[in-house]
Amino acid sequence: MLAVLLPNLFLFPSAARAATPTLDLAVELDPATRRLAVQADLSPAARDYRFELHEALEVTAATAGGKPVAVRPAGRHGFIRTWQVALPPAAERLHLEYAGTLPALDRTLDHRDVVQGLSPVASAEGSFLPSGGGWYPRPAALFAYNVTLTVPGNQRALVAGRLKSEELPGDGSDRYRARFEFAQPADGIDLMAGPWVVREKMMPRASTEPVRLRTYFFPDLDAIPGLAEGYLDDSQRYLERYGKEIGTYPFTEFSVVASPLPTGFGMPTLTYLGADVLKLPFIRATSLGHEVLHNWWGNGVYVDFAQGNWSEGLTTFMADYAYKESESAEAAGAMRLGWLRDFAAVPAGDHQSLADFRSRTHGAAAAVGYGKAAMLFVMLRDMIGAEAFRSGIRAFWQSQKFRTASWSDLQAAFERASGRSLEAFFKQWINRAGGPAVRITAADVRHTAGGARLTLAVEQNAPAYALHLPVQLVFPDRAEMRWIDVDKARQAVTLDVAAMPTGVRLDPELQVWRLLGQEQLPPILRQWVIARNPYLAQASAAADVREASVALAQRLFEVSPHAIAPGEITKGSGPVLLAGLHADVDAALERAGLPPRPERLAGRGSAQVWTVAVPAGPPVAVVSARDAESLRALLRPLPHYGAQSWLVFEGARLVERGVWPAPAPLIPVRGAP
Ligand SMILES: [Zn+2]
Repeated sequence: MLAVLLPNLFLFPSAARAATPTLDLAVELDPATRRLAVQADLSPAARDYRFELHEALEVTAATAGGKPVAVRPAGRHGFIRTWQVALPPAAERLHLEYAGTLPALDRTLDHRDVVQGLSPVASAEGSFLPSGGGWYPRPAALFAYNVTLTVPGNQRALVAGRLKSEELPGDGSDRYRARFEFAQPADGIDLMAGPWVVREKMMPRASTEPVRLRTYFFPDLDAIPGLAEGYLDDSQRYLERYGKEIGTYPFTEFSVVASPLPTGFGMPTLTYLGADVLKLPFIRATSLGHEVLHNWWGNGVYVDFAQGNWSEGLTTFMADYAYKESESAEAAGAMRLGWLRDFAAVPAGDHQSLADFRSRTHGAAAAVGYGKAAMLFVMLRDMIGAEAFRSGIRAFWQSQKFRTASWSDLQAAFERASGRSLEAFFKQWINRAGGPAVRITAADVRHTAGGARLTLAVEQNAPAYALHLPVQLVFPDRAEMRWIDVDKARQAVTLDVAAMPTGVRLDPELQVWRLLGQEQLPPILRQWVIARNPYLAQASAAADVREASVALAQRLFEVSPHAIAPGEITKGSGPVLLAGLHADVDAALERAGLPPRPERLAGRGSAQVWTVAVPAGPPVAVVSARDAESLRALLRPLPHYGAQSWLVFEGARLVERGVWPAPAPLIPVRGAP
């Protein structure tokens, strides 16, 4: 339907805007009794109008053109009931009144329950009426709205949109009332209420209205020194950054709202994050920017879910990944390795294409929807250049603002910006599941008049991908990066070089989405966590140390480990955990013929953990501690660091962590001097 409207939108923007139906709601919510009463006024898209309401809500009045109309049941699915009303010929506006007692907030829910449950819930400690929860009649797929919220004076409430007016309790009223307007076409309304303390800061903008920044924090959260101010300042920083990078922030408010549940939602003009999450020190540096950016991607340009969700990948690329890039090249490289490592861990049968990605429901989907999609943008920028990429982003925003867009709209924007066809690129990365397994099988060099010519034999599994691949040329005194293009299962690529390289490495910095070889996957603790057949080797004899080691192994492994003698560890048939006191661990490693304690860990902290890749035999992870108490201190923190290869702890506090480097194999160049 939108596609049909496009020519009109272009020629008659005001007429098209008038076509967006508006929903007016007057909402009264008493969180303590969970009573919700709503008056709704709307112009339905069809005269035979069907709408959905939660089963807890009963329609108490319905009129059209001032006359009562009949509302009839028309089916149900789950907790949602569908209602039907026929508008009389002359009437345009429908007035509905409905009320009921909402389900209670269940604090034992986790994020997934909340995302999947979608039922509106209320309580004095917090209420959440999600857009899909059937708490308002939806006039059309996209609609504008005006919402007036009334709650008891000790509560505050909001929906996404511009705050038009606000009445605080006092002056004869013991209520809080706020009126919001969302003038752009929205695809739903989320309502939140809670016993919040509200803080505000105005962010000036040169060419347009200021942005009202707010925190809605529970009193104990608000009381943490500097926390609310920090969120206001950082929100401003992100809004300014993305305003410059993409285009003017399309709204006039941005609020950080505390949830009693461990949720993380980005909505237009606000983010709704669990109060416990908001306390975590790294959230302001990562998740906040990600959620701010969703005001452009997802809530500013909508996702055509039928064709795959592009917004998580673009948001991850321009937020999480961009922050790593500005930190250091190593940090960005570690994030790319993380994506490829997660992808390598997905069984081939579970591979999904980007076109099929809707949202994060399980790890395999996240590896594609976040990792592969973000890497697509890394590869695209490498291919068309940073300048064309930047103008493509800006053009996509300008042309798709408040519209529903798909991967093909992104493709069109980047094609215009770069002046080249990106059909093959988008087609393979969006429509194909999995990724290429590509390798250099031989490298030969011979002298030419002007220097030397290098010939690379490049192979990949059929059907071949068209790949723009970085190749590192290694010379005795330096290294140099060159790019090659391949699109066949077996292909010879020639490069003219000034001097004779001694070796080459394919994509050593992991800039291309692909299936990594085993040698490029550093051993990380997750391999032990998920091991089906793990072993525990006790390096020490002392009873308290052995007891702590068993407890630790049971915490770390998802299944109970078999016992194995320290002298036998290279003979286990699954990942081995070697645990004990420092001197005993050193002796056990030596007896087993394994590499000694890594230098960068020796003598540090009260406990050290590291993984060892054993060339022939099961992988070994080592936990080495000063005493039994230092081992026991790891019980709580250790399982949280599955993505790491090594850790240093002081008591239960992590001091340092890291992933072992896993360099791309060096392919020797034949014919080199
Ligand atoms: Zn996101």
